[in-house]
Amino acid sequence: MSESTTQSQAELLAALLAGRYPDEQGRYGPFGGRYVPETLIPAHQRLEAGVRRWLQDAGFQAELTHELRTWVGRPTALTFAPHLSQRWGVEVWLKREDLAHTGAHKINNALGQALLARRLGAKRVVAETGAGQHGVASAAACARVGLPCTVYMGAVDMERQAPNVGRMKLLGATVVGVTSGDATLRAAIDEAMRDWVGDPDGTFYILGSAVGAHPYPYLVRELQAVIGREAREQMLQQAGALPDALIACVGGGSNAIGLFHAFITDQSVRIIGVEAGGTGRGLGENAATLSYGRPGVLHGSHSMLLQDDNGQIQETHSVSAGLDYPGVGPEHSLLRAAGRVSYESASDEEALAAVQELCQSEGILPALESAHALAGAKRWAAANRGTRTLRVLIGLSGRGDKDMPTLSKTLIARLEGQDK
Ligand SMILES: *Cc1c(COP(=O)(O)O)cnc(C)c1O
Repeated sequence: MSESTTQSQAELLAALLAGRYPDEQGRYGPFGGRYVPETLIPAHQRLEAGVRRWLQDAGFQAELTHELRTWVGRPTALTFAPHLSQRWGVEVWLKREDLAHTGAHKINNALGQALLARRLGAKRVVAETGAGQHGVASAAACARVGLPCTVYMGAVDMERQAPNVGRMKLLGATVVGVTSGDATLRAAIDEAMRDWVGDPDGTFYILGSAVGAHPYPYLVRELQAVIGREAREQMLQQAGALPDALIACVGGGSNAIGLFHAFITDQSVRIIGVEAGGTGRGLGENAATLSYGRPGVLHGSHSMLLQDDNGQIQETHSVSAGLDYPGVGPEHSLLRAAGRVSYESASDEEALAAVQELCQSEGILPALESAHALAGAKRWAAANRGTRTLRVLIGLSGRGDKDMPTLSKTLIARLEGQDK
């Protein structure tokens, strides 16, 4: 690794554009890899062999494509936003993952992994969930594919996200509350891993974002890349050109890498990832890993990480539960190091304002996560609009119905305050 950490930005970019990542070891330049305890290595190796055998298999791809079309509802629409365009002074285009089954992009990955689990002869599936969205997507995908599903969820999160717990149960999943550790996502991941290693032949672990040890970041990217493939074709067809800027929110980074992947070699396209800026720059006030983090290892992968001077993982904060994670997928760390993608953050307040603006101007209620991308796009438009008509393509990763409890306490309370 010492060799790769000394690679210059230009070298990383050249290797990136040549399609050389991940390499055989699952590395993205200095990032990625497989940093797991001895006991977890055989399970990851088995998964890697399965990915190699099936992912590009014509029969598997045909089945996946068919399910994406007839069950998930793909291709999702590309929507021109006339009112936002007028307000912002650039053409605004929205890639509508909010229209996908279960309300977000997460189903693309959950379905793909569930189909892979069946091909590999798994008898059951385990998954972890924080806010519950990946748990719901996994429960739905497993029901569709016909595999029993156990979802590990921190006890604290189960209380905060009670409606999603009910949804998972309705969809036939067994939800196991985790009281160990911090009783949130990190503890749930540990428990799901423990379950998986207990029976790596019969059990498949569906990981929810482009994070974790090799081959997960690659597998999740490949399953989410359908977003960008569709969007690129739709832009050429509907707008007659590629976008000047491409913008998505980044938690673990799966919707962003899914949107970005097809555009990486389009050098005229400026690409921006937007992280959760929370309430400020201070320790524990945000979840902006690429803005404020340093390299380290979390959940099996070397990537950027929010940690204190002793290497302790920091607490994070975001108004959107889906972005509230101290790590980020290794490919994003590479894209930043190579200078291909720039990363910035949007605050809780900017995200809330963006929710309201999209609702009122286009009749679409976005997820709080996706609202961070909208806020980033608005900023880009203000800084770049000019004589030539510019086009921005925004990844609308999900719908905001799940955020009603948070929105009731914030935006809606303010609206009702104004009525008085
Ligand atoms: C989970 C989630 C995210 C964040 O996850 P990524 O892996 O970074 O995409 C973003 N948007 C929505 C709607 C989500 O549910």
